[in-house]
Amino acid sequence: MKISLIVPCYNEEKALPLFYEEVKRVSGEMSDYEFEMLFIDDGSKDGTLSLLQEFAKNDERVKYIAFSRNFGKEAAMYAGFCNATGDYTAVMDADMQDPPSLLPEMVKILNEGEYDSVATRRKTRKGEPKIRSFFAKMFYKIMNKISDANIVDGARDFRLMKRDMVEAIVNMCESNRFSKGIFGWVGFKTYWLSYENVERVAGESKWSFWRLFKYSLDGITNFSSTPLKLASVSGFFFTFVALIMLIFVFVRALIFNDPVQGWPSLVCIILFIGGIQLFCIGIIGQYISKMYIETKKRPHYIVAKTNKEDVVKK
Ligand code: UDP
Ligand code: MG
Repeated sequence: MKISLIVPCYNEEKALPLFYEEVKRVSGEMSDYEFEMLFIDDGSKDGTLSLLQEFAKNDERVKYIAFSRNFGKEAAMYAGFCNATGDYTAVMDADMQDPPSLLPEMVKILNEGEYDSVATRRKTRKGEPKIRSFFAKMFYKIMNKISDANIVDGARDFRLMKRDMVEAIVNMCESNRFSKGIFGWVGFKTYWLSYENVERVAGESKWSFWRLFKYSLDGITNFSSTPLKLASVSGFFFTFVALIMLIFVFVRALIFNDPVQGWPSLVCIILFIGGIQLFCIGIIGQYISKMYIETKKRPHYIVAKTNKEDVVKK
């Protein structure tokens, strides 16, 4: 039985040695299993790649795939899925926020046969800025209402999956990737394992609030067309209101001989409607820009260096 670990790394030279030691320790305890560590160097600017080459020299279980530039964690995970060969495959962060020590328990659950994947979620959002928690909660609420991706609040990308699920994910070859949604969308029976949130051991998070915010909007447009429906519904609503007002103004002028007054209110209405129109065009534009990217069919990532024979490039 073989377990593949996919580890996206971007400027992780501080955290990697600790992570590697921990994986070595855990895999040592699981001697019945063969391990494969697939490190994806996502265009790091520090010593990450030379560290990985160092690991690979002394440990043939270590495989690295280095990108030609930073393609983002989504692309890195996809490269991992495309190249993982294990019966079980896990994605995990290099910063130990996804503790390798959970692996034995996750493997045990999959071995029992009932589940196809074991996913992890954090128990609480303790230690996170309040405003960030608030937006995160809102995002999960909205997302689950308007899409069928079924995303769990506090879910991490850390998951152990059977081969079937990995193949389903590899087959979803869209360029605009949102893994939390993809994992939910492909379905399969998932066991949710909760654990106390762990702080990153070294280095710093690459996710600013702004980057997370944009990521969440991407998630919504990738998995739901509700914003488009919103645009048509508001268009319908305003046409209806305009019609009522038109009748009202006509009747007032004809029957009560009351000339129309108030151009300030007229200006407000024009501005308001103009705003709504631009907003809706913007929503449509978001979807068109996604289509534009998809139709180009550019590669998801470009491999610059690797020690893996026949790497899959997608
Ligand atoms: N990561 C990556 N490419 C990026 C950003 C991040 O491969 O462009 C990796 C990073 O090295 C780490 C994981 O994705 O292993 C999660 O990143 P981070 O810890 O910064 O995110 P957080 O845990 O704060 O959400
Ligand atoms: Mg992290």
